Amino acid sequence: MIPFIDLQSQRREISANIDRAIASVLEHGQYVMGPEVARFEQELASFTGAKYAFSCANGTDALQLALMALGIGPGDAVFAPSFTFVATVEAVRLVGAQPVFVDVDEKTFNLCPDSLLEAIHQVTRDGELVPRAIIPVDLFGQPSDYDQMTRIAELHDLKVIADAAQSFGATFRGKNVGQLGDITTTSFFPAKPLGCYGDGGAIFTNDDYLAAEIRSLRNHGQGTDRYDNVKVGLNSRLDTLQAAILLEKLKIFPKEILKREKVANFYAAKIPVELGRQSLLSGASSVWAQYTVFCEERELIRNRLSDLGIPTAVYYPKPNHLQKPYLSAPSSPTGLKTTEYLQERVFSLPMHPYLTEETQMKIVMGLQSAFLDH
Ligand SMILES: *Cc1c(COP(=O)(O)O)cnc(C)c1O
Repeated sequence: MIPFIDLQSQRREISANIDRAIASVLEHGQYVMGPEVARFEQELASFTGAKYAFSCANGTDALQLALMALGIGPGDAVFAPSFTFVATVEAVRLVGAQPVFVDVDEKTFNLCPDSLLEAIHQVTRDGELVPRAIIPVDLFGQPSDYDQMTRIAELHDLKVIADAAQSFGATFRGKNVGQLGDITTTSFFPAKPLGCYGDGGAIFTNDDYLAAEIRSLRNHGQGTDRYDNVKVGLNSRLDTLQAAILLEKLKIFPKEILKREKVANFYAAKIPVELGRQSLLSGASSVWAQYTVFCEERELIRNRLSDLGIPTAVYYPKPNHLQKPYLSAPSSPTGLKTTEYLQERVFSLPMHPYLTEETQMKIVMGLQSAFLDH
């Protein structure tokens, strides 16, 4: 059986370094905000080119901290896709604001600019909520169209929070993820392209004011010293052990991104034409958190693949606007047709940097035979 995601191959490759990094933390014992955390944050800043990089406990907290830093709360509207992991809209609700669902583009699977504009106009006309921010999600590893997002945000005086939980390491028109929104958030959950051995996250910004807010908010609203608390914040820090692990993983990450790209190119060239797939915008690179395709009769094809020992996964089986807590959230007047179309048809193929050519070939042949029997 082919594993859907294989974290052990990577571990085998760097286990000596990881073990040494962990042992060194156990030795110095500074488990919270130890020296590895500061070093990792420096590395994150230089990797992305962002002026500020803050680590935190997970990608959901990263989003919540971004919203808090922007002062977003009750009475505010935040525009976000429904086609995303629930954390994107959950964070909006956690600060008391209202998510407004926006449809996605059928080619890129990311926020559709027209649907976004219509949603902003609708909220403005209704006058009940104050439009404050857009959360483009870089679904499956591809950055959203940040030229469009920034243009629309400037036009309507909104902030852009880039949910880059899946796209850390990707680029858009010469800029790295981390610099594409007013604030960018990411996650180091184990299955993300850069994952740790537990939960972790980070926040990026080039803005001095927002950086100071985030620094304080992630640590109980700290003021001038540890026992000076100037605002209500969170306890959301990255464990030193995770920072030590991530420092080692970051070293091999650029090489892993190239390997992911190679797998994606192989799939793109060889999978059956019956399969639709997420396409890249010109000037965008993806880190391929998932390689996602779509077709009619998805379950039939997935079952046939499963019989051949080829695992697949559906991200996400139920769109957020149909999840219980978000049923009453407003959505764009354009509707969410593409979201619903894709969510009934998408599935993802095994994707990780250590997928051998032999396995890639087996997956492609499996797909071809699944469609032949069709
Ligand atoms: C994983 C993910 C998150 C949340 O990250 P956690 O570290 O699991 O809290 C948020 N948004 C998206 C799009 C994600 O994929």
